[in-house]
Amino acid sequence: AAKTDGRGRARTFTRSMLVVLEQREMLRRGLRSALQEGQFFVEYQPLVKTSSSIAGFEALLRWRHPLVGIIPPNVFIPMAEADGLMSEIGQWLLERACQAAITWPPHFTLAVNLSPAEFLHEGLTDRVAQTLDLVGIRADRLELEITESVLLERTINNLDTLNTLNVLGVRISLDDFGTYYSSLSYLKNFPFDTIKIDQYFIKDLEADEKSQTIVRSIIALAHGLGMNVTAEGVETGGQAAWLQKEGCDRLQGYFLGFPMPAEAIGAFLRKSPAGLLRT
Ligand code: C2E
Ligand code: MG
Ligand code: MG
Ligand code: MG
Repeated sequence: AAKTDGRGRARTFTRSMLVVLEQREMLRRGLRSALQEGQFFVEYQPLVKTSSSIAGFEALLRWRHPLVGIIPPNVFIPMAEADGLMSEIGQWLLERACQAAITWPPHFTLAVNLSPAEFLHEGLTDRVAQTLDLVGIRADRLELEITESVLLERTINNLDTLNTLNVLGVRISLDDFGTYYSSLSYLKNFPFDTIKIDQYFIKDLEADEKSQTIVRSIIALAHGLGMNVTAEGVETGGQAAWLQKEGCDRLQGYFLGFPMPAEAIGAFLRKSPAGLLRT
């Protein structure tokens, strides 16, 4: 039993901690069969150019658990990583998302996230090349999003992988920029096409001058290096207008469009959400 702190409260281990652990164990066990059981699905969130047209969509993974309901990726992806399942799940998502993307206008890009285990997987570049070939999608329509955490280890191999993807024609985005370790050496050494500014800096953009200064600097940094910039988590018209004025290339967030199932994209495009941005 757990020790108590004298007022009857468990100090080191509480009943509710046990419940949380049991729930995590249940989810973890469920993950093993989730792919075979068809419990994963993909939503697509629009990426909108500040010139006001749709650039493409980012694929976002969801898990519909038979008992718990829909579980967000931040909860189950780290578990899948730890259990060595993420590479297989990621391959499923890549195929699925490419198959959705071939039905879109041919200039639309498809953004796909790669977790550290997926990026470090030996066969990644071959698998990406094969999938593009199989589905019949041009490599330059695919944007792979990685975070700085992916680049922390094995730097020489990382550079090889990024260069191989680059040679294939696939584009690489640096996701959640400004969080994690934000070492600028990555920007010097790796051929990114796009930097995605983390939503943390966009949230209070209208009220906070520090966020404004940081965002302005990231835009200048990216453009100075010949990279594009996307702002994540744009929720208001005010944020969108400010980012547009400052020369940010693309916007993503609830103001421009929520993540949606593939079948909803047609109707979304007919409503022309990019009209939200003044040009
Ligand atoms: P991310 O790649 O940075 O994706 C953006 C997240 O912000 C998504 O959360 C999206 O739904 C959410 N978001 C978009 N616009 C707004 C907004 O205006 N306001 C707020 N508050 N949030 C917004 P989601 O779908 O829960 O995904 C979370 C993270 O999980 C993703 O962050 C990504 O790192 C990871 N992830 C999602 N799908 C995949 C996948 O297929 N593979 C891998 N490896 N990771 C994935
Ligand atoms: Mg992303
Ligand atoms: Mg992000
Ligand atoms: Mg994120």
